[in-house]
Amino acid sequence: MAHIAIVGAGFSGAVLAQELGRAGHQVEVFDTRAHVAGNCHTARDDKTGVMLHTYGPHIFHTSNQRVWDYIQQFGTFVPFINRVKAITGGRVYSLPLNLLTINQFLGRTFSPAQAKAFFDEIAQQGGAEPANFEEQALSLMGRDLYEAFFKNYTIKQWGMSPTQLPASILKRLPMRFNYDDNYYASQYQGIPRDGYTAIVENLLDLPNVTLQLGTRFERSLASGYDHVFCSGPIDAWFGCDEGRLGYRTLDFVREDHTGDYQGNAVINYCDLSVPWTRISEHKHFAPWEQHADTVIFKEYSRLCEENDTPYYPIRLVAEKALLAQYVQRAQLERNVTFVGRLGTYRYIDMHVTIAEALDVAEQYQQSLASGKPL
Ligand code: UDP
Repeated sequence: MAHIAIVGAGFSGAVLAQELGRAGHQVEVFDTRAHVAGNCHTARDDKTGVMLHTYGPHIFHTSNQRVWDYIQQFGTFVPFINRVKAITGGRVYSLPLNLLTINQFLGRTFSPAQAKAFFDEIAQQGGAEPANFEEQALSLMGRDLYEAFFKNYTIKQWGMSPTQLPASILKRLPMRFNYDDNYYASQYQGIPRDGYTAIVENLLDLPNVTLQLGTRFERSLASGYDHVFCSGPIDAWFGCDEGRLGYRTLDFVREDHTGDYQGNAVINYCDLSVPWTRISEHKHFAPWEQHADTVIFKEYSRLCEENDTPYYPIRLVAEKALLAQYVQRAQLERNVTFVGRLGTYRYIDMHVTIAEALDVAEQYQQSLASGKPL
């Protein structure tokens, strides 16, 4: 049986710990934070009793049957549909862009077929393959919708022009020619009844898995293990000695109110006149609970400095070049595998992280069986 270190107790690390622990290996999990579950961490608020998503709202959604079946073994998910609202130009609309948004914004009564014909014509005016976020948006929705809903929000969120950003960021969101206002196009969607922290604790709950919180795992310790799975930032593993990979971080400014503050879990603010990107009201993520008081968070995005929490990898040309240098060095590490959003420096959701951690655990087991290292 192998002696394994796992750096980070978020979903990547916890799923690996569960899989490798169940396979009989001796697993030690390390996290610099004082709690598990990484940025998915949830905690019940002492004052109001509301379950708070400490590092911002997390709505679990997936179309991957394997992931959905897997994660439900570790907690009960209550069905939840994220129906985001957006304020732009002094009006409230529904997101993602759907027929209600389109008709209300354009003052039309398009049917699905009419809307499709309208936007097909816009798409034909564009050039070849969109090269960036803005080109992608213009060819999908035209200038008016883009400027109202995406341009300024994206400037606030990413701190740069959408012409500098990859089209892939916009592709996260669907655009629909019907009245479906589900933010996600995934088959399954829910919120864990007892929070994400409880799920991660259950994943880590094996006799041969130990957990050390508040502990930084240094690269120099790797030689003491058969294998290390690192879900921490890949640049930090190498002491950032080639340079720091850029991230956006978030500041959440809390306010406490009574009753219902905004009537919805998430409202996006798409104008530059408001400095925050969105307000989330966390009790609406658990509509099955009753709370007299409410907690909201205004969310502000900025460049991540050295001691801030990294959230969104920036991944522009310069970052990708730097990443390539670290990836090259990572391949030379004898017994270390990098996983997860920070370990691979990708903008991935929880369900992707879990799917990849399951795959990596399987590959590791196969590598042991075949004698070929990972
Ligand atoms: N976006 C936008 N306006 C909105 C919502 C999203 O311009 O009202 C853009 C923005 O650039 C954002 C991207 O779409 O980064 C992806 O949005 P998503 O909701 O997936 O972001 P997340 O919830 O991961 O922050």
